[in-house]
Amino acid sequence: MVWEQRWHPLRREWVVVAAHRNNRPWNSEQVAHVGRVLPRHVPDCYLCPGNPRVSGAVNADYAGVFVFDNDHPCVGPAAPTELATPAGIYRNRPATGIARVICYTPRHDLSLAELGAAGILPLMRVWQEQYRELGARPEVEHVLVFENRGEVVGVSNPHPHCQVYATNFVFKTTEIEIEAEREHQEETGRVLFQDIIAAEQADGQRVIAENEGAIAFLPYFARYAYEAIVAPKATHASIAELSELELAQLAEALAALLVRFDNLWQMPFPYVMALHQAPTDGRDYGHHHFHIQLHPPLRKPNLLKYLAGPEVGAGGFISDTAPEDKAAELRAAPAVHYKHTAARRPA
Ligand SMILES: [Zn+2]
Ligand SMILES: [Zn+2]
Repeated sequence: MVWEQRWHPLRREWVVVAAHRNNRPWNSEQVAHVGRVLPRHVPDCYLCPGNPRVSGAVNADYAGVFVFDNDHPCVGPAAPTELATPAGIYRNRPATGIARVICYTPRHDLSLAELGAAGILPLMRVWQEQYRELGARPEVEHVLVFENRGEVVGVSNPHPHCQVYATNFVFKTTEIEIEAEREHQEETGRVLFQDIIAAEQADGQRVIAENEGAIAFLPYFARYAYEAIVAPKATHASIAELSELELAQLAEALAALLVRFDNLWQMPFPYVMALHQAPTDGRDYGHHHFHIQLHPPLRKPNLLKYLAGPEVGAGGFISDTAPEDKAAELRAAPAVHYKHTAARRPA
């Protein structure tokens, strides 16, 4: 049982790994997921092709990846610009920016995992385009691409999609990573993320998928039980810098991880996924290594990792599981999606 503190080099904080707290080891018993069988097209889904949205706009009869401006944007050109001045030291400013939605596929019933590398690749090209286009706007300093998957992370519409927030500020996690990477570069002359990849390869236990140009692993310093990172092996500040070959290799690594997530408990595995890319404020971010981070909230099929005293109250993480054990579970899961195979896993 792992009981120690591990340094999170990208966040520059300690993670307490107290695996002995996880009352008992997961006994690999299969939990039947009472999954609703979804139709390919849903008449009142605001993401399906040809359907009207709340704004009155009608979705194109799209065949591949479909992008539109969010009808309920958190940041947008319509945000009020005349603001009341707050009291004392308090500050405010207009919530300008652009919020978009990206549908992965016209199929209501599929997921990123089921789309596989061939279906993820065109999406990644759109991620590149969005980063370039939105990042080029003078008012945009940061382009956040993220997917919330599953009801436990608040998603009511299962139609596979992600969101883009192009904001006039840099999100905190990016800011912290950039600073950690800059400091590491100054101290050692090396790219921090390259050192992380090297350590993961040297250890090997937590690597879930790897090919010539990309790697997927559960980091040594994971805060969530199944927290994972998928990254190109070469250092690029954003996804926009990847070659077509690197993009295909990244898609393969991401697909391999997502399939194992779903196969673990034979259910759609919920997660929060975010692309960690360099800010678009015009500064040099040569030391930033673009990567995708996945934060699954579950520890067991029906057990959420609750964020409580240390996490919410104090901004530090207690992990009840060792990433090596969770990685072993994923590595043992089949590489073919359970919905694509008739064979069930042995109980
Ligand atoms: Zn739909
Ligand atoms: Zn990151």
